Amino acid sequence: MSTAATYRGRLAPSPTGRLHLGHACTFWTAYLRAQEQKGVLVLRDEDLDPQRSKPEYAEAMLEDLKWLGIEWQEGPDIGGPFAPYRQSLRREFYLDAWRKLRDSGAIYPCTCSRKELALATTAPNDVDDEPLYPGRCRNKAEEASRYEFPAGVNWRFRVSDAEVIEFADQHQGSQSYVAGRDFGDFVVWRRDDVPAYQLAVVVDDAAMRVTEVVRGADLLKSTARQLLLLRSLGLPVPRYFHCGLVRDTFGARLAKRHDALSLRALRQLGQSPAEVLSLCNGGQS
Ligand code: GLU
Repeated sequence: MSTAATYRGRLAPSPTGRLHLGHACTFWTAYLRAQEQKGVLVLRDEDLDPQRSKPEYAEAMLEDLKWLGIEWQEGPDIGGPFAPYRQSLRREFYLDAWRKLRDSGAIYPCTCSRKELALATTAPNDVDDEPLYPGRCRNKAEEASRYEFPAGVNWRFRVSDAEVIEFADQHQGSQSYVAGRDFGDFVVWRRDDVPAYQLAVVVDDAAMRVTEVVRGADLLKSTARQLLLLRSLGLPVPRYFHCGLVRDTFGARLAKRHDALSLRALRQLGQSPAEVLSLCNGGQS
């Protein structure tokens, strides 16, 4: 008798600040979906950025999630078959992917300075998003093979202009993005030798056998980029479920700067996990 593949979900917080109500709602959804499917939930500490990540935030993050009642079966605190579950300890996996992309010509070294980029790029509509790269270093593809290691330049993934990337989101319905219009050649490895989020996340989701990615709708466009990376690396494509975003009373998306809505602050005000989670309902559709 055949059995369906085990559901594997993940929680992937970055320890760059306190978790807030928006995180609580998304992670609760991820938890419920894994529970409903009798699946496994993986906690991955996305502490890639050495400047912004802090061990005290990583600790607080685990504690806040436990306080909410979320349980995971693999993670930095308990181990598991795909350890380590902390991105700062997974550099070899990312380097391996970088080498594959370099060898196949999918990425190129970009030497544009910050200043040049600021002058030449078009600001995206979404302030948090990477600006559209005008393609100045695209002709440097042949130089890629000269680099044994990525450090010192930005490495960009070359998108095919006008390619339409479509996917069916489990929550938001069908999605369609156009490469070169909605996003340009994006960074996969930073000049300061830090792998970019887009690369690390696809490498890890595949390595940890994630079957469904549950995260906030602010990452929908990143999913389109990630689908291109998965294809280039020959990795399996998970399902995607993008939760609606929780907004503050002024309609702005919650960010880590919203300290008043951090789980810590709500907890200190005497709110119970159930009361906190009851605030989610409106934001998840
Ligand atoms: N670590 C990312 C963040 O906190 C989320 C990554 C993801 O879920 O793909 O924004």
